[in-house]
Amino acid sequence: MEQGAEDVPVVYLHDIKRQYTQGAETLTILDGARLALWAGQSVALVAPSGAGKSTLLHIAGLLETPDDGEVYVGGAPTSQLSDIERTMIRRSDIGFVYQSHRLLPEFTALENVMLPQMIRGLKRAETVKRATEILAYLGLGERIKHRPSELSGGEQQRVAIARAVANAPRVLFADEPTGNLDPHTADHVFGALMQLVKATRVAMLIVTHNMELAGRMDRRVSLAEGKVVELD
Ligand code: ADP
Repeated sequence: MEQGAEDVPVVYLHDIKRQYTQGAETLTILDGARLALWAGQSVALVAPSGAGKSTLLHIAGLLETPDDGEVYVGGAPTSQLSDIERTMIRRSDIGFVYQSHRLLPEFTALENVMLPQMIRGLKRAETVKRATEILAYLGLGERIKHRPSELSGGEQQRVAIARAVANAPRVLFADEPTGNLDPHTADHVFGALMQLVKATRVAMLIVTHNMELAGRMDRRVSLAEGKVVELD
């Protein structure tokens, strides 16, 4: 870790504005949203459907550009970067986990976790070693040769988490990662995410409707009138 790297947020959203135009109507979804995500801290984002949670995640994860405001990653502004530069930051610093696992069905668990590393240019042998280690860490050591269809829902989701952290990102965004799982499995997958925050000091923002899980995270925020508000 660079000296002083923990003095600035891993991601800082400054006065983010995002509007969508539908026919003659303009919807203002985010309207001056501010949020700092810190290394080693888990944040729950709890808000009603349509409040703009996915939009916020996509903007913070550099998948979408805001109409106004700035996204800082490691203290550096990103709005003037080229698409290629943004893609490079996404590959190295940002991980995503979605409600459905989005694993590639023709590939094994191991290959699914190797792929993002290979795209980044790591040597194959290195990607095998690292993918095997991460999968074992998430309790999937016996499942590395299985394809997604041969895994349970909780196992699929843990492979998706392994893939998201394969390149040791500085921040992990998860959009209802346990939404499709039964309560027991959800608890297990959630535990794996919390373990990663503490072990790797990744910053984490998780969208969830589950207040019990939100209560176990370090911090809770919501969206109101396009702004991020702290709960508690
Ligand atoms: P949430 O994740 O909280 O359910 P979203 O961020 O998905 O909310 O969406 C917020 C609002 O923005 C919704 O009303 C949705 O219909 C609208 N919206 C999202 N994406 C688009 C888009 N690409 N075009 C038009 N409207 C959109």
